[in-house]
Amino acid sequence: MQDRGIVSSSALEGERQFEQSLRPPTMDDFTGQAKVKEILSIAIQAARERGEALDHVLLHGPPGLGKTTLANIVAAELGVSIDFTAGPVLQKKIDLTGILTNIRERQVFFIDEVHRLMPDIEEILYSALEDYRVDLVIGAGPGARTHSLQIPRFTAVGATTRQGLVSAPLRGRFGLVLRLNHYDTGEMTSIVLRSAGLLNVSVDRDGALEVARRSRGTPRIANRLLRRVRDYAQVRASGHVDLAVARQALDLLEVDPLGLDETDKKIMMTVLVKYGGGPVGLNTIAASIDEQPDTIEEVYEPYLIQLGFLDRTPRGRVATPRGFEYFGVERRQPGNGQSSLFP
Ligand code: ADP
Repeated sequence: MQDRGIVSSSALEGERQFEQSLRPPTMDDFTGQAKVKEILSIAIQAARERGEALDHVLLHGPPGLGKTTLANIVAAELGVSIDFTAGPVLQKKIDLTGILTNIRERQVFFIDEVHRLMPDIEEILYSALEDYRVDLVIGAGPGARTHSLQIPRFTAVGATTRQGLVSAPLRGRFGLVLRLNHYDTGEMTSIVLRSAGLLNVSVDRDGALEVARRSRGTPRIANRLLRRVRDYAQVRASGHVDLAVARQALDLLEVDPLGLDETDKKIMMTVLVKYGGGPVGLNTIAASIDEQPDTIEEVYEPYLIQLGFLDRTPRGRVATPRGFEYFGVERRQPGNGQSSLFP
């Protein structure tokens, strides 16, 4: 057991270092998300000119799109340090008060998975974010006293894949709430080419485009696939990644041509086959595939909508003709035979 624990933690560490090595260090290096970058750049410049802490920032969007990367860039461009934590890591109030009482003027405090904070810990954050104040309980029992400690003005950057689960009082304390969207194929290709350069992988544009197309609009997936393709090229080809090599490698790994994963496919098949293309409600889809409605809405649907396979309508989710075509499903005629009355 212990051995397994050690292996998996070193594998995780390797993955973390790999991601770290590919992180764009500046806003200029960060591809795509033009609007988010512009809003952040303006706010950063204004805060710097005034010599003040930047407003708190909440970044939300599907995993692997660059939230942690942007938090690092924000700190670098503000010229301040950054501390990291994550909602599930903070188990006791003292974990958070400990960090907050050591915080430095204008620094960035990154909180990943901010929707997973425990309620009593979240409450500590309210006064820290709003009034830069931490309430410390000194002593125990009836004699316990509360001491209110003023802390330096800092910038919290919260990240979440599930915006809908962030409580209204917490959300309201972030001055900037910014959504990251999936990257388009052009942006993904630039990201693959940049990563290939850093990893010394020889790849041409068509090879990069193929990796980009199959990466679900997600840089983290692109970087992982690029590594696998690099191995394949080294062992089965001359080391160079062109279109043919990329295709062979990704087919071998059974990566969908559009990067769709099992959940994407289950959602589409539910709408297409079980509900004849819809409209079908989000909760019904969720119950059919045993997934949380807000995970479907915030993590999976945006990519299916971007691909033009699914539409959100007031009556529910509807599959598009493109969705029917890609999954090879025939559209059922509505109302069995009624259509013959209205040719
Ligand atoms: P998140 O915090 O949203 O899950 P990360 O910031 O950890 O995502 O990004 C995952 C990986 O994807 C990182 O290794 C980073 O190098 C890469 N990445 C993310 N966004 C970009 C981007 N816009 N340009 C280049 N690489 C990116």
